[in-house]
Amino acid sequence: LDGYVGFANLPNQVYRKAVKKGFDFTLMVVGESGLGKSTMINSMFLADIYSSEYPGPSSRIKKTVQVETCKVLLKENGVNLTLTIVDTPGFGDSIDNSQCWQPVLDYIENRYEDYLNAESRVNRKAVLDGRVHSCLYFIAPSGHGMKALDIELMKKLHDKVNIIPVIAKADTLTPEECAHFKKQILNEIAQNKIKIYEFPDCDDEEENKVNKMMRERVPYAVVGSNTVVEVDGKKLRGRKYPWGTVIVENLEHCDFVALRNMVVRTHLQDLKDVTNNVHYENFRCRKLAGLGP
Ligand code: GDP
Ligand code: MG
Repeated sequence: LDGYVGFANLPNQVYRKAVKKGFDFTLMVVGESGLGKSTMINSMFLADIYSSEYPGPSSRIKKTVQVETCKVLLKENGVNLTLTIVDTPGFGDSIDNSQCWQPVLDYIENRYEDYLNAESRVNRKAVLDGRVHSCLYFIAPSGHGMKALDIELMKKLHDKVNIIPVIAKADTLTPEECAHFKKQILNEIAQNKIKIYEFPDCDDEEENKVNKMMRERVPYAVVGSNTVVEVDGKKLRGRKYPWGTVIVENLEHCDFVALRNMVVRTHLQDLKDVTNNVHYENFRCRKLAGLGP
């Protein structure tokens, strides 16, 4: 996955403009509580690694009880990226989960509303794009399909945001179980007519190769960790077990790196385009038709 394509394949003019201006991108995480959502975004984008001399208990990541956002400035492939991360409270804790996703849906709709209002103002140059460009949907590593709640929520989300399905805590599955689980999830997604983010086809052969590799890994099986383990003198994020060590950034252990690259490098622009051309348009149409959210 060394040869990133995304940015480099933008037409020169667009590319230069983008490099100068930088990108704004918003990523949301959704799913049942305890699946490692906060740990994952921490592993992907935030630098607070506990060293082995100073191991922080995992409870250092407090329970997420409301929608929380944070901004990170990243430099990816020479391009400045202002990433807004939206962490959401998990659900599934209460007996009645029927309203648990309201804060998530509200957040998405409100950002569209903000954008629409800003767009209709006179000075359109300064329109900030706070729309949610992708939603990592965490699925419990049960090994036997998704929960009814997940299917229901995905259906509520799929017309509003780019859903990227993720298998949480993949270190709890064997490679065979994981491969089987992936197939099962894709089947259920198809059977329930859930629309997840679709990788675009393009003319470039190199780019298609990368696309194929990334598409084949969906749903991404990930492992997150806030602790550092030492392997051959190198300090890496990982999880230690009696039988061995799982390295978060090793593609043979999980899809963490593929997912990260896809979201913030290769498919960032397409995720933004689909958000604008499909999901935001849906919102505007619903609005014009007076259907409410
Ligand atoms: P959230 O409620 O989805 O935000 O979950 P948290 O990030 O708060 O994590 C819940 C618990 O799961 C913590 O004890 C983490 O250390 C643990 N955890 C997080 N990621 C992983 C993972 O990839 N594998 C395993 N085995 N445990 C994890
Ligand atoms: Mg959390």
